[in-house]
Amino acid sequence: MQAYDLLVIGGGPGGYVAAIRAAQLGMRVACCESNPYADLKGEPRLGGTCLNVGCIPSKALLHTSHLFHEAKHNFAGQGIEGGEVTINVKQMMTRKKKIVDQLTGGIKMLFKKNKVSFIPAQGSFVSYDQERGGWLLAVGDESVFAQQVIVATGSSAQHLPGVAVDNKIICDNEGALELTVVPKKLVIIGAGVIGLEMGSIWRRLGSEVTILEALPRFLAAADSDIAREAGKIFAAQGLDIQLGVNVTEVKVKSNSVGITYTDHSTKKRQINADRLIVSVGRRPNTVGLAAEKVGLQINDQGQIEVDDQCRSNLPGIWAIGDVVRGPMLAHKAMEEAVMVVELIAGQTGHCNFGTIPWVIYTNPEIAWVGQSEQQLVESGIEFKVGKIPFLANGRALGMGEPTGFVKMLADAASDRILGVHIIGANASELIAEAVTAMEFSGASEDLARICHAHPTLSEAMHEAALACDKRPLHF
Ligand code: FAD
Ligand code: NAD
Repeated sequence: MQAYDLLVIGGGPGGYVAAIRAAQLGMRVACCESNPYADLKGEPRLGGTCLNVGCIPSKALLHTSHLFHEAKHNFAGQGIEGGEVTINVKQMMTRKKKIVDQLTGGIKMLFKKNKVSFIPAQGSFVSYDQERGGWLLAVGDESVFAQQVIVATGSSAQHLPGVAVDNKIICDNEGALELTVVPKKLVIIGAGVIGLEMGSIWRRLGSEVTILEALPRFLAAADSDIAREAGKIFAAQGLDIQLGVNVTEVKVKSNSVGITYTDHSTKKRQINADRLIVSVGRRPNTVGLAAEKVGLQINDQGQIEVDDQCRSNLPGIWAIGDVVRGPMLAHKAMEEAVMVVELIAGQTGHCNFGTIPWVIYTNPEIAWVGQSEQQLVESGIEFKVGKIPFLANGRALGMGEPTGFVKMLADAASDRILGVHIIGANASELIAEAVTAMEFSGASEDLARICHAHPTLSEAMHEAALACDKRPLHF
């Protein structure tokens, strides 16, 4: 029987990062992975949802579709002329696959380099080994002993009752990233992050896109100013986003699908589409772990119950990433991974849940960190606002991306930054400055006194900080 200091179950961003960090700290570590995304050797690929069917392939398609849209609609305005621009979906998918192959293969190389043992099999709990003070597990056909176990089994797409996903006509994230033609009519259920990113990809490539959202408010998790602006921009891009919708029936025909729903006025509506994407959230993966066998606690949302430091109810078992509470984000999983391994090694593991950034990779991008205006109002915290439109930023104009704004919220008394909300070009990169400032408990005055290169989009962040003190220089 193989014995390890640490066994990591799941090789997604949480799991593979935990395994690499543990090896760096001198632990004898193995990581098992059982997904069906096979590499050339027929082994499961590492990288989990993120690298195989999530963050990375979606961003590759977002990039291609953005370039296509720019070439088709915006090049002429800059004097760039050429013949008719067309999209070769097969080539777009080949490029995406190459990126996935490269990155997932790269993690296997990192495992080799760091001497992490990779076990291509499903892991499940068997029992506690009292004598050795650790856990016995079944990993595929093998028995394994591990002093410590990190469960990083991630999440899978939530499906709707009566809506059978075949990943051909009705797709979840997996099928949505593999469409072979641009659907003429695409319907998406759920106007969350996946709905907006997938809707943007296929809309830019020419689909007529309708997004059906159950909630009466658009982008409820975002700052309401951002949500309002995004709603207007996406409508202008041709995304038909309907709110307060109740989908009552979904019927597949030979090569299309009919969706019946009631809208906010409770009027019954029917819509036909070539493809339907269901993106109504994700559920934690705990099936197959045999958690009940050892008494590992799972809460009523299906997540492994953990404390702030990702300790489960059982000694030596930790859980991180999408399978536990908190936002389902790759970088959150990675932060928890490093924290847990460092705690196991007796170091001061740390994860600041208050400064985890959110990004939605639409165009313009949306990014935020910290609290929204409505959250501050609800908690009765007095704050000041600095808001600067990209229209007042020379770089944004030069790039032809003048939409959106940076909104900074700072404590009225202490000036400490409480939240930063961006809608605009490169928001995904710009938010890092706000995260850094907040990690260091920075004030808006701190950012106001930092020299920002000119001309850059980051000057909008600088101006928003100045605007918190009502002294912007360029607006
Ligand atoms: P996962 O990545 O889900 O990995 C868990 C792994 O564990 C899986 O490979 C699974 O096969 C394996 N596993 C499960 N059970 C077992 C078992 N018993 N034994 C062995 N292996 C097992 N997040 C971002 O931060 N940015 C983005 O831009 C972004 N885009 C996304 C786009 C899409 C379309 C989707 C679906 C998600 C996106 N996410 C994004 C979310 C991100 O993918 C997840 O938050 C992240 O992958 C979670 O990492 P994880 O390690 O917890 O789980
Ligand atoms: P989500 O939680 O972002 O959005 C789901 C949406 O579906 C919500 O607005 C919800 O109200 C709606 N909904 C739920 N049931 C419905 C129903 N029956 N009919 C109509 N609408 C319904 O979930 P998602 O878009 O599936 O994405 C899952 C997770 O993956 C996200 O929470 C996010 O953590 C992660 N993700 C992140 C990124 C990123 O960081 N850029 C990108 C994609 C996914």
